[in-house]
Amino acid sequence: MESRPLTEEEHNNWIAEVSHELRLPLANIKLLVETLIDGAVEDPVTAMRMLNRTKEEVTRLQNLVSDLLSHEKLQGGRDEMRFAPVDIVRRAQNVLETTAEMAEEKGVVLKLAIENGFELSANEEQIDQVLINLVENAIKFTPAGGSVTVRAGGPPPYLEVEDSGIGMAEAEIPKIFQRFYRVDRGRTRGSTGLGLSIVKHIVDLHGAKIAVTSKEGLGSKFRIDFP
Ligand code: ADP
Repeated sequence: MESRPLTEEEHNNWIAEVSHELRLPLANIKLLVETLIDGAVEDPVTAMRMLNRTKEEVTRLQNLVSDLLSHEKLQGGRDEMRFAPVDIVRRAQNVLETTAEMAEEKGVVLKLAIENGFELSANEEQIDQVLINLVENAIKFTPAGGSVTVRAGGPPPYLEVEDSGIGMAEAEIPKIFQRFYRVDRGRTRGSTGLGLSIVKHIVDLHGAKIAVTSKEGLGSKFRIDFP
């Protein structure tokens, strides 16, 4: 994906993909609510299970809409971006604070390893988004007892997010940056498949490069090298 406006055909594809992604949770919610109306509501245990499933589907729709908005905002491209000096150490600390609760609930330890403090000419909001998406993924795909490390250093400046999680097969790596792609759709029901596509877009807008190394069962490392 490059940083340029979508052609009409790409735009139409995009609308089709988005509609497709919205349709499934909506259909599930409709079915769940209809089943409740048709009588399932009489049995409290079944009713509670269905309401919890409905809540999950609504959360999925919320995540989708929020990721779609980020994605849409990025279509403005580099022209509308404000670049300013960004303190990478502060941003890394900030993301670890934001994700601390999620990590604790999951039983995953967060670590920060800063080689050198440095400033980067970048868009702060977008750098935050990249770090959040990478760290949230790392936590999501790391079982309890594992760890996630955010590293930064340079010059030339780099950022790394490494986890000791489930990893992925070599063949998956080129596909994970595609919109809506999820390695295992069943296992990642709460996710949208847009997180890494947003990351890649932002990395491109900064003229940076992203590389992934991963081993199944051992973990993954996402590294961004800035120019
Ligand atoms: P989402 O996380 O919303 O599903 P992403 O675009 O962020 O979407 O990620 C796409 C897919 O890449 C994920 O569904 C997952 O299969 C895989 N993936 C991303 N990050 C990791 C990671 N740290 N470890 C293992 N798999 C990952």
